[in-house]
Amino acid sequence: MLQSSVTPHPERDRLMTRTRRIASRLRDLRSAAGTLPDAVVLLDHSQHVRWFNHAAEELLGLKRPRDRGRLMSDLLRHTELAPWWIDGAREPLNDVTAPGHPNRHVTATLLPFGSRQRLLLARDTSHLTRLEQIRRDFVANVSHELRTPLTVIHGYLELLDPEDVPELAPVLDEMRAQSKRMGQIVEDLLTLSRLETQDHVADEHVQMVPLLASLRKEAEALSQGRHTVTLDVVAPIDLLGSPKDLHSAFSNLVSNAVRYTPTGGRIAIRWAPSESDGATFSVQDSGFGIPAAHIARLTERFYRVSSSRSRDSGGTGLGLSIVKHVLNLHQARLAIESEPGKGSTFACVFGPDRLLRGTQAAEAAAAGVPY
Ligand code: ADP
Repeated sequence: MLQSSVTPHPERDRLMTRTRRIASRLRDLRSAAGTLPDAVVLLDHSQHVRWFNHAAEELLGLKRPRDRGRLMSDLLRHTELAPWWIDGAREPLNDVTAPGHPNRHVTATLLPFGSRQRLLLARDTSHLTRLEQIRRDFVANVSHELRTPLTVIHGYLELLDPEDVPELAPVLDEMRAQSKRMGQIVEDLLTLSRLETQDHVADEHVQMVPLLASLRKEAEALSQGRHTVTLDVVAPIDLLGSPKDLHSAFSNLVSNAVRYTPTGGRIAIRWAPSESDGATFSVQDSGFGIPAAHIARLTERFYRVSSSRSRDSGGTGLGLSIVKHVLNLHQARLAIESEPGKGSTFACVFGPDRLLRGTQAAEAAAAGVPY
């Protein structure tokens, strides 16, 4: 009787089948990740590249096999992602030029996983950037085109004398007010378009004492004695930035305080040192206040808590959007505290890099503008 010469090894066979199955799943996983449209880079605990997909070659400019095992910081060194990477890449980085493709834009995210490993993801957002550009151009062009006809209408309305046609006097008044409002909306939209396309501001010396004094005067002129306006200059500090844009941002906050505070209320303008060697410009009012649910959306274009109140007081719904953009350009932030029925505080918080203190401010003033 013939005997099989192969000795059965059930344990070894099972192990081999399992190994093959795991290897096949790993291959599947790699080829799936390999074909993802997003760039995926697998990094080990010391931030060296272990693996990357095809999209990473195209978007991040990595090359196989050259870049396997290389330090990610070296690979990103001369790219727009470098400062973000050095800073720890804690938050996603939006809309930067793709290191591997100068005409594309990406959003990059760093995700921790396993034992101190990291996954670097980069998504192509060029189409969104393009759409955003189309939107910006459209708004800027429409606003620009509206400017001339509005100036003509406004000019003719100014020429008409209500005394010549007394029965039309109220209509004429309303037409003048509305054409002025439209003109203001167009100017605010053009300001926003300009601010959106700017990525930095000139470092000019902004002298705070005269600026604050003129803001107080503006508040008093707008209030016409209906409110108590105070000015408190606690910080002998000046700012570095755009005097025109900062004046426009601060002036928006002051005008809002007057417009949203009933007669008899208080408005306090303050310039004071704040935490981490910064300084804060704030406007506090004892006005209507804002319900908490609205606060996060106030800086959106045309967002209003009460449309009628905004319109009746001459608002365009664009003021806080302008404030946010101006502050972003100065690496500052807007902090809003409010309680319905009690009042609101709008604060612009500046970091130390934007401040000119004591002798620095005096030297800058002596040297003239720009600083
Ligand atoms: P608007 O021209 O309508 O005032 P803004 O962008 O300046 O537009 O403000 C957006 C909205 O925020 C306003 O319509 C108003 O509802 C609210 N708001 C702004 N400032 C104040 C304030 N100091 N007190 C109460 N509400 C305010």
